[in-house]
Amino acid sequence: MTTTPAFRIGQGFDVHAFGEGDHVMIGGVRIPHTQGVLAHSDGDVALHALCDAMLGALALGDIGVHFPPSDDRWKGADSRALLRHCNTLLAERGWRVGNADVTVICERPKIGPHAQAMRETIADDLDIALDCISVKATTSEKLGFTGRGEGIAAQAACLLVRSAD
Ligand code: MG
Repeated sequence: MTTTPAFRIGQGFDVHAFGEGDHVMIGGVRIPHTQGVLAHSDGDVALHALCDAMLGALALGDIGVHFPPSDDRWKGADSRALLRHCNTLLAERGWRVGNADVTVICERPKIGPHAQAMRETIADDLDIALDCISVKATTSEKLGFTGRGEGIAAQAACLLVRSAD
């Protein structure tokens, strides 16, 4: 009997406030918008939530531990690089993402038209099949900071499975 389970589950959550700018990065996709987001990196809430879910599944801490804002290496960083780095950390420990489900919460920009491109981007970076990646969107019915258009939130869940030897 093994003491190591065959599966691990993780969840993540992230928020970025809107600031000056003309686009936002969400799910690795550049979306033209009337505002940008305030962030040390490119402020991609969807990928940050997913990274935290992946790290959390293996109890490896959080994105702030692995990519500290105090470290200039991550200033303006492409969050796809962070995602690929997290995937490498999993692979080194014998795990891969089985599937992931990401929800983006905002009033604007509209996520739906870009969701497919986000799925493809994430699937590429994790090197897994497209049907293993879900990207969904919701508003918060004009309630709270997302409803008032002050920022964007995202949450993610993922299941890790043992890599084939
Ligand atoms: Mg973040």
